[in-house]
Order: sequence, then C-alpha cells, then structure tokens
Amino acid sequence: MQSIENLKFLTRSEVRKVAETFGTPVFVYTRSGIESSCDAALAFPNAFGLTVRFAMKANPNRTILEILKRKGIQIDASSEHEVKRALAAGFLPADILLTSQQLAASLKDLVEQGVQFNACSLRQLEEFGKIFPGREVSVRFNPGLGSGATKKTDVGGRTSSFGIWHEELEKVQSLVSRYDLKLYRVHTHIGSGSDPEVWKAVAQHTLDIASKFPSCRIVNLGGGFKVGRMREEKTTDPQVIGVPVKQLFETFAAEKGTKLRMEIEPGSFLMVNHGAILSKVDDIVDTGKGGFTFVKLDMGMDVNTRPALYAAKHPLVVIPAREEEERKTGDFVYVGHCCESGDLLTQEEGGGPLSRTTQEPRIGDFVVMEGAGAYCSSMSVKNYNSYPETPEVLLDTNGEFKLIRKKQNPEQIVQNEILVPL
Ligand SMILES: *Cc1c(COP(=O)(O)O)cnc(C)c1O
Repeated sequence: MQSIENLKFLTRSEVRKVAETFGTPVFVYTRSGIESSCDAALAFPNAFGLTVRFAMKANPNRTILEILKRKGIQIDASSEHEVKRALAAGFLPADILLTSQQLAASLKDLVEQGVQFNACSLRQLEEFGKIFPGREVSVRFNPGLGSGATKKTDVGGRTSSFGIWHEELEKVQSLVSRYDLKLYRVHTHIGSGSDPEVWKAVAQHTLDIASKFPSCRIVNLGGGFKVGRMREEKTTDPQVIGVPVKQLFETFAAEKGTKLRMEIEPGSFLMVNHGAILSKVDDIVDTGKGGFTFVKLDMGMDVNTRPALYAAKHPLVVIPAREEEERKTGDFVYVGHCCESGDLLTQEEGGGPLSRTTQEPRIGDFVVMEGAGAYCSSMSVKNYNSYPETPEVLLDTNGEFKLIRKKQNPEQIVQNEILVPL
C-alpha cells in the first residue's frame, strides 16, 4: 500500500480559489518556499567562500529569476539563449556562467560583454583559445563518476557526454599552453543523486584535477542535490554532504597553498517542491477485469514531460470539487490529455501504466501534481496537440496569488507559421 500524498504548500481552499481565478491547468509557485531554499543553499558549508548559481534551465520564468537575483544567487546558463534571457532579466554579465553542450555562436560577443565561459569539450576550449588567447578560462570535466537518480539523469561517468573526460587532462593542458590560457575554474557536475559518499568522492576527484592547474582559484561542483518529491524519496541535506566537502577544501589549502572558492549550481534544490500543477479530472474510463481505471486530467506531457521522459513520479493529491465529501482510497492510473499512448502521468520505468493509490477522484475534482517547480514548465513538449502553454502563478509572501505568465493564446501558437502561395 502506497502512502497517500499531501499538499506541500497550498491549502485545499486555495487550490479551489486558484483554479477558479486562473483556470486549469495552471502552475503555482511559492515565493517563501523558494526563498527558504535559497537560504539553505547559501548556508552550504564552505572553507573559503561560496557562490551559488541557479541552473536556470530548471525554471527560467522572469519573476522566479528576480526572486533569486534578490537573494544574491548567480546564474548557470546552459545555452547562449539562456544567457540572453538572464541578461534581459537584469543579471550582470559577470554573474553568468555559460556551460553549454553546444558551442555558442555568440561566444565572442558574450565573453566581451563579461559573461564567463566554461569550456565543455576540447573543441570548445580550442575555439575559445583561438578567439581569446591569453585569457582566463574555465573547464568542465567529466570526473568519471555519476550519481543521477535514473540513467537518464546521470551526467557523469562513461555513459555521459558532458564535460571533458578526466583522462584527457593532458590534452587540456596542451591546449591551455598552446593558447596561453589561464585555467581559473575546474567544473564538474554529477547529476541529481543523493549519496553523500558519491558527493565526497566527486569533490575529491575534482580537487585532484584542480591540483594539476596552479592557476585554478575556483572549484564548481555543479548541481545534483537530490530533492525527494514523493514521501518515500530521500532529500539531500546540504549541511550533511557539505561538511566533508569543506574539509577536503581545507586539506587542499594546507597541502597546496591555494584557498579555493567553491561554487554550487543547484537547479532542483531551489525549486522542486515549491511548484505545483493544478489540474482537473476530465474523464474516468475503465478497461475491465485485469485492466485499469484511468483518470484523465486536463493536463499532460505538454505541461509536464517528466513522467513520459523518465517515468518520474510526482505526488498527486485529489481535492474534491466541493469540500468535505468523504472519499475512499483506490488504485488509479493517471493519464495526460495528449493523443499519445506514452502520456501516462503514472507509469512504469520503460513505459506502461502504473497504478497509484489516491483518494477516489471524480469528474470535476481537482488533482494537484506536486514537485513541479523545476524541469516542468521549462521542459514541457509545449503545444503538442495545440494545447496552449500553461499559465504560471506566484503565491507571494503576503498571501496574494499573482499571474507571472499568461496562458498562451491561439494566435501565439501559430504566430511564426507562414501560409505560402500554393
Ligand atoms: C542542470 C545543471 C545543474 C542543475 O542540476 P540539478 O540537478 O537541477 O541541481 C547544474 N549544473 C549544470 C552544469 C547543469 O547542467
């Protein structure tokens, strides 16, 4: 028997009020929750200074960025387009670090503006060296270890293409000397796992790499603070994983004489449980004995792709349309509204329906999908079936609900299409 999930930051009456005011589906975020996670990240144990960057791909909404900026959080951008979005949101170029799988076409321009560049491959390092010989540069390594929660979120180790493979250190050194570069930051990112031992091992491995570059002043350990969405999932405590990591930095300083500044780049940690999707039960169908009861919501993979992509589990909380109706619990498969058999909101790893124990939903009830603050709005397969992009609402600290992104209108869905003379 699975445990029934609860609402994380909204009350039942707030759910009804938000649904009535803004319609469903709708994202809701809590400012006070985000701010308290910022405080926890900024309190990460460190020996010689700390910079916290928000991995903005997790949730790049303008108001969310503003909340983080006011907390003193800087930016980890994963594409040149994110850099431009962060600049437009008022971040200083120097507060943005670009760590991109794809070489930025605007690299020269962005770096000249003061944006920091993190070379993620030998090719990227060489291109940077050609444009900016003699400059300082930052390099992302693949430390040979990963700790993703699933195969698909693992970003370290031999199965991952992120960063320069740690055995290619000499190639990095020769490019650095060929272009007279000064390597000032060593960066690794291991994925969103929760194992403190892996964190410590990766930190040690990263420091070993840093020790090969006397000009290195900063070590960036990436993101990957696992945040449990479901009750039974673990959450990383920065205070627990941080203490041994801090000691490693102190030992490094004692042995090598360099007091390395530490950077971390949480995405999930700052946002995951501070966002929810409010949806409505549209239909319920049954496939008989040996089959399933399918609950169809008015949202799907166009709002949150994570279940379809990783078989990710999000808490689902049934809120009866009217208060105080007694409901039994039961096992249901929750289904998205897209015409795509993979659009199952509760699914087995590898696909196929997976039952979830919840209160018995009825048509017209609300279902709140929790743990939707990161990698949901930003990662959705927007506009599939021509469903409009979902609006976003912020629960501000004064208790007010504020619209921070409008629902997309039908003209916007087709605005870039051109009907040519035929
Ligand atoms: C995505 C990403 C992060 C954030 O990862 P989380 O698991 O959300 O904390 C940090 N650093 C880099 C380079 C990333 O690509």
